[in-house]
Amino acid sequence: MSNTPQTRRVTLASRDTLVQILETLPGAFFVVNDTETIVYANVSAQTLTGATREDVLGKPLWRGAPQLVSTALYQAVQQTRQTRKPAEVEYVSPVTRNWLHVQLSPTVGGLMVQIHQGRAAARREALVPQGERPCIEDLDGLLSRIGVLTPEGIVLEVNEVPLAYAQIRREEVIGQPLAEARWWSFYPTSQEQLRAAIARARRGETVHFETVVHPKKGIDHHLQVAITPHMDADHHVEYLVFAGLDITARKRAEQQLKESEQSLRVLAETLPQLVWVVGPDGLNEYVNQRCCDYLGLTAEHMQSNPWAHLPFIHPDDRAGSQALWQHALDTGTMYEHEERLRNGQNGAYRWFLTRGMPMRDDTGQILKWFGTSTDIEDQKRIEEVLRQSQERIRALIDSNIIGIVSLEEEEDVLVDANEAFLHLTGYTREDVRSKTLTRAKIIAPEQPLFQHALQELAERGQHTPIETEVVCKDGSLLPIVTGSILLQKGPRQIISFVLDNSARKELERRKDDFISMASHELRNPLTALKLQTSLLHRQLVKQGTLDQAPALASMEAQIKKVIRLVEELLDVSKIQAGKVEYVWETVDLDALLREIAETMQQTHPSHRILVHGALQTSLIGDPDRLGQVFINLISNAIKYSPDAETVEMDLSTSEDAVTVRVRDHGLGIPREQRDKIFERFYRAADPKKRAIPGLGMGLYIVAEIVKSHGGTITVDSAVGKGSTFTVILPFKRDA
Ligand code: ADP
Repeated sequence: MSNTPQTRRVTLASRDTLVQILETLPGAFFVVNDTETIVYANVSAQTLTGATREDVLGKPLWRGAPQLVSTALYQAVQQTRQTRKPAEVEYVSPVTRNWLHVQLSPTVGGLMVQIHQGRAAARREALVPQGERPCIEDLDGLLSRIGVLTPEGIVLEVNEVPLAYAQIRREEVIGQPLAEARWWSFYPTSQEQLRAAIARARRGETVHFETVVHPKKGIDHHLQVAITPHMDADHHVEYLVFAGLDITARKRAEQQLKESEQSLRVLAETLPQLVWVVGPDGLNEYVNQRCCDYLGLTAEHMQSNPWAHLPFIHPDDRAGSQALWQHALDTGTMYEHEERLRNGQNGAYRWFLTRGMPMRDDTGQILKWFGTSTDIEDQKRIEEVLRQSQERIRALIDSNIIGIVSLEEEEDVLVDANEAFLHLTGYTREDVRSKTLTRAKIIAPEQPLFQHALQELAERGQHTPIETEVVCKDGSLLPIVTGSILLQKGPRQIISFVLDNSARKELERRKDDFISMASHELRNPLTALKLQTSLLHRQLVKQGTLDQAPALASMEAQIKKVIRLVEELLDVSKIQAGKVEYVWETVDLDALLREIAETMQQTHPSHRILVHGALQTSLIGDPDRLGQVFINLISNAIKYSPDAETVEMDLSTSEDAVTVRVRDHGLGIPREQRDKIFERFYRAADPKKRAIPGLGMGLYIVAEIVKSHGGTITVDSAVGKGSTFTVILPFKRDA
């Protein structure tokens, strides 16, 4: 015992020093005795508990510092007391959500409890399990509800938080069974759960369970509950510590995840693609039913074998696919490959476009690969057909049989031309490349036919081939036949073919020249013949030899007919050459028409020529040419109505023009021929009309003369009933 005072002194001194040190420690520090009653608390400990030293001293640690209570700490305390060895424990305070690091050191008859607090956020990452990462706003909801119960489950003490949250006064709960409190009583199953847990804790077991409570009207909360029995020295349960962690947010997140996973799955199953999800190790985590069906494999088989699909890839595509996939796995880059996949059911290959995208976490680590394989067989086929047809078109273009050009934009700029076109026109590839050749530049302008073709192109997407001329590089005009199709409207794209028409035009020119020359050559001897015949006729009359007269008269008539034909031929040539000459004067058309009617009546007794109405005004015109118009119309009317008896002429005058209608009751003209009959040498093909002599020149000349007089000619007809030709002539011809 001799060393006792010394020891005591040292101890005392040490104790004072120790206390000094403890007081300055930044961390909270408690000393508890062997009944876990607080016998010392430093300044920081008071800050931690929010109570004065006097308040906490003499209280059990679990009640004096409820912020510390956790199963982990409770177990560590028990362990240190039994083993007499220091221990430490880390956990998140269920009350403050702060991370706590608690060091426990055994002392004689008690324990030192040293606490380091960390900021909740600082260690939350490490301590909060995946999927339960609350944000600061969620902290309120996560606050633990904590209390101390008797072994029978009667509330001894309860934290402010649940009281405030459920708006219950402490007195309402203290002394009452916890299971009767509103939180629990709302749900009988939760109540049962709690009662069962309390019963188990009362037997010395720490019980964990999840339950639903009802702190407020309309709000359900999910709680993760721990009930930890507190033992006295005799290992009897003295009281129960109740801790609850609000996991509503986590539950909600889990539910959402489940739902979104479910909807993803539904989506994946309804997609027309083969869908697969692969882990970072290359193992299949998911394949949709379509994928299994196509390959004829089970999901299990595919999940257990990362290369299960490989034998289904066409041998020619396999190596490429494998290398690319390995590369994607190694580098984390997107996988994309077109490959043929064999249908496991029928053995046929189809083209698929397979793509795999890595999904990464925040740190860039690859979590999964999401992939789809899209059937592109039809697309491939269409591409192939398109390629073939493009090749055929290219072959046609390159064949250089006909010139082909491609025009673009609103001004129709020449952007492409084949050799044949360049050869025809003398333009070079450079000229085409410069994009300065527009349609307006290379097609002889002011071509009414061409304007019509452009309109047709815009309306129908193509135009009937037309004859026109192209301006060559050297400025000469080359006759061409051209047709176009509108490939697309915006931006405008046109393809045209161009055929050299010069040979035909040359032939036509020679024919026209021949007609012109022949008619000239024929006219002179015919005129001489006519003169001689009439001379002979007169001489015979003088000599009184009348028996030959009728023959001569018919000869004269025939010669007249031939002369008329030859003159018409000459007129056609003149029209072609633009050399018709007119003698303009004031014409009394009314008198002219009546005279014609009269003369014709004499030579055509088969029909009665009736004239209705009158023309009050004279007009400016060439009387011979105007006469030619109506002689032609009346003789046609007679010619093409062999069974009719009359031909009628209606004359009328309006403010600035006269209208003459020539009507017959004959064969009529089908609708589709009504424009053509005014063309050069056009004759209807039906046998009835073919039997009627003619050369198809009359109406061509008529239309030309009417046009030169500033007038119009139209036809109205009913097949089998007759036709009406309407000529409208203005009084004054525009210069
Ligand atoms: P043609 O010498 O054949 O009469 P035209 O130029 O005068 O030449 O007429 C052209 C064609 O128009 C004729 O072949 C005929 O088919 C048709 N045609 C002209 N006038 C009539 C008419 N009054 N009734 C029916 N058909 C007509």
